[in-house]
Amino acid sequence: MSIRAGLVEAIGATPLIELKSLSAATGCRILGKAEFLNPGGSVKDRAALFIIRDAIARGAIKPGGVIVEGTAGNTGIGLALVGNALGFRTVIVIPETQSREKKDMLRLVGAELVEVPAVPYANPNNYVKVSGRIAAKLALSEPNGAIWANQFDNVANRQAHVETTGPEIWDDTGGAVDGLVSAVGTGGTLAGVAEALRCRKPGVVIALADPLGAALHSYYTTGELKAHGSSITEGIGQGRITANLEGFKPDVSFQIPDEEAIPLVFDVLAKEGLCLGGSSAINLAGAVRLAKQLGSGHTIVTVLADSGTRYQSKLFNAGFLRSKGLPVPAWLERHTAVEA
Ligand code: PMP
Repeated sequence: MSIRAGLVEAIGATPLIELKSLSAATGCRILGKAEFLNPGGSVKDRAALFIIRDAIARGAIKPGGVIVEGTAGNTGIGLALVGNALGFRTVIVIPETQSREKKDMLRLVGAELVEVPAVPYANPNNYVKVSGRIAAKLALSEPNGAIWANQFDNVANRQAHVETTGPEIWDDTGGAVDGLVSAVGTGGTLAGVAEALRCRKPGVVIALADPLGAALHSYYTTGELKAHGSSITEGIGQGRITANLEGFKPDVSFQIPDEEAIPLVFDVLAKEGLCLGGSSAINLAGAVRLAKQLGSGHTIVTVLADSGTRYQSKLFNAGFLRSKGLPVPAWLERHTAVEA
C-alpha cells in the first residue's frame, strides 16, 4: 500500500525499530514502535481517529461540527489534523505548563486553543473538566453537533490500540514478542496493546513503566492510589483508574525516576540517531528493567510515543535540565550555552 487515500489512511502501520545499544547492553532484543512517525507526530493520532470515527458512527457529530478536548497536546494535534481532513473544527484545552512546541503546533494546525492553569484533576478548573463543560455548552448551540472527545474515559481510544497498534506489533514480530512495556497517560496504549497481545499469546509479560508523580505503580503493587515526587515528562503520569484502564492489570510494574530515564534519550539520539520525547525515556528505562527481569534472549517491545523536537525548549535545553537538577550531557551544554 504505497498510495494512501488521505491523512486518515496514513495513520498507523509504524515500523518497529531495533534499539541496538539497549539490546547490546541487556542481551535482549529491544524494539521501539516508532509512533513519532504518525502524521501528527505521536501515538495519539490513532486514538484521535478512533474517537472521531466513533462519534460519527453514533451520529453525535456531522461535518461542520466541533470536537472539544482537554489534552497535554498530542491528542489535540491528532484531533485537529483528523478534524481538518474530515471537516470538523477543534477546540483544545491545554494546561499552560505544557511545552511551547506543542502549543505552537496546535495553533499552526488550526485548533482553537484555551490555555488553563495546571491544577489537579479533583479541581473543577482542571483542563479535562473545563473541556467537558465547553463541549456540553457547544452541544446546545452547534447545528452540526459538538462532542467531548474525553480521551481518558472514552474507550474508543483503547480500541484503536486493540485493533491497530497491538496487531501491528504481533504481525511485525511474527508473534515473537515476550514483553511489552509502556507508560500511561490515558492508558489506551498500554491496556489496548495488552489486550491484543494477551489474546494472541497468554504468556506475554505486560509491564507498566510509571514516572514519579503518577499513582498507578502504587495502585498495582499495593492497591492504593498514591503518588510521590515529580517528573519533567509530558503526556504520562496518571492519578486515577480511567475507563481505558478498567479491567486491566499489568504483570509487572516499575516506577522510574527521571534521573534513570532521561539519559537514555540522549544515548539513543547519540548512538542510534533517534530523537525522542520524555515519555519515550520512561519507556526505554522500563524496557531495560524488564529485560533484566526476564533475562537475556527475550524480545521486548516499547513505545516511542513522540519526537524530541516537541521538547526542544525543555528536555533538550541545558538550562531547563539544570533547573530541575537533572544531568546535562556535554554536547547539549555546548549547544545551548548561549541561551541558557
Ligand atoms: N507519551 C506521550 C508523549 C503522550 O502524549 C501520551 C498521551 N497523552 C502518552 C505517551 C500516553 O499514551 P496513552 O494516553 O495511550 O496512555
